[in-house]
Parts: sequence; structure tokens; C-alpha cells
Amino acid sequence: MSDDCLFCKIINGDIPADIVAQTDHVLAFRDINPQAKTHVLIIPKVHIQSTRELNDDNVHYLMDMAVMANNIAENEGIMESGYRWVINTGDDGGQTVHHIHLHLLGGRKLHWPPG
Ligand code: AMP
Ligand code: ZN
Repeated sequence: MSDDCLFCKIINGDIPADIVAQTDHVLAFRDINPQAKTHVLIIPKVHIQSTRELNDDNVHYLMDMAVMANNIAENEGIMESGYRWVINTGDDGGQTVHHIHLHLLGGRKLHWPPG
């Protein structure tokens, strides 16, 4: 855990969030500034800053995040209509919170390429 990390504070319960689902390893909550009807953030319950810090020892969290995203897509009713997974990394990637998170976006037609 990182003391000054917003998402670690959500994991600890220090900051409230609209929690959608969780396991021992991952937490899913609604984005505070949703960009689509469904916009859920899925994070590991350990502080991993970004995709850059993924390695053989912690990449299993990404697997848990992926399975969680599928369960939520099913529950949100967007499995058939489609959805998008996004993980932003670093400044050029547009990452603003430095605790790795998978955006699950769906419920509307999403544009491509991203801006
Ligand atoms: P990124 O730009 O990829 O780092 O995404 C960070 C996301 O976190 C943005 O979509 C924000 O709207 C979202 N966010 C920031 N603070 C909160 C919060 N307290 N609860 C839920 N989502 C948040
Ligand atoms: Zn953190």
C-alpha cells in the first residue's frame, strides 16, 4: 500500500467509492467521472503503479482483473453489445492515478482511434 495513493485509500475504505465487486485480490468501483453508461475501474488490492511495474511475480493480478472485468460486463449487460478495456500508462498514455487500473467502458458506441 502507498500512503499517498488515492486508490489505496479506496481499498482501505478511507475514501468512499461506489463498489461494484471485489475478491481477495481485486476491487471494482464506478469511475467518478464516467465516460460511458458503464465505466468501471478494476484495480489490484496491492499498490502496483502501472503496467511498467508488471512482472512475473505480480502479473497474476492482471489475470484477476481480466476475469473480474468479464463478470462485470456480464452483470452490466454489455457482454454481447461490446465494451472496451483501457489501461493508461504514463504521461503520454494519459495516466492520472498512479495505481494500475483497468477501465471497463461500455453501453454506448465507442469511437476509434482514441484522441
Ligand atoms: P487514468 O486517467 O487512466 O489514470 O484514470 C483515472 C480515473 O480515475 C479517471 O477516469 C477518474 O475519473 C477516476 N477517478 C479519480 N478519482 C476517483 C474517485 N475518487 N473515485 C472513482 N474514480 C475516480
Ligand atoms: Zn495505490
